[in-house]
Amino acid sequence: MLWVAVAICASWGRSVPAQANDLPPTELAGAEQQALSFLKSLPREWSGTSNRDCKTYEDKNIDKLSRSFAVSAARFLKAFVEVHGHVTITSAHRTAQEQVCVCDGEKGPCAGRPRIVKTKKGRRIVKRGTSRHQDGIALDVRAGTGTEEEFICMHEFAQFNLQFGVHFPMGKRDQPHMEPLASSRTKVRLAVLGAVQPQVAPCAKMRIMLTDAPAD
Ligand SMILES: [Zn+2]
Repeated sequence: MLWVAVAICASWGRSVPAQANDLPPTELAGAEQQALSFLKSLPREWSGTSNRDCKTYEDKNIDKLSRSFAVSAARFLKAFVEVHGHVTITSAHRTAQEQVCVCDGEKGPCAGRPRIVKTKKGRRIVKRGTSRHQDGIALDVRAGTGTEEEFICMHEFAQFNLQFGVHFPMGKRDQPHMEPLASSRTKVRLAVLGAVQPQVAPCAKMRIMLTDAPAD
């Protein structure tokens, strides 16, 4: 099967965007399609942290991810599954309405929840933030059964393998939340491959994700 190889270019300080569209259109479409199909092949379900199941993990939500992020996320998760096992996607792209839905009942900070803020002139206005999910550049992923150790392992895996171009910027405050790395720091150039999987470093403490799926 065709997969994509990644070459990291030493372009520190240059702000060349890491777009997958460096590729000729036909190859680009191939890489994107593979990425979307791979993401759709992973287990997907509601995280259970909001009041209702807003179904932001369905095919329609995967399809609206930023193309270059979908490719990075798919490569990262494919490698993670190969090395450590089970992951579940719990949220992908969200419309503004879906963002409001997931904020309903969410205990932590939530970008779509209205907040009252005071203007300089002392007026109170209602503000509603925008989540990265609405821009298609965030994906929520549960590692294994979602224990602390499993999330730490997944975060480490991203840190140890920057070639995949993703990170978990919220850390413990929002463990499943993955975003692309800033493109000015790591330029990820995609090339249709054949060969070399770059070296992948496993996380330090855990080997295999737990799973609560029946073993039959
Ligand atoms: Zn998120």
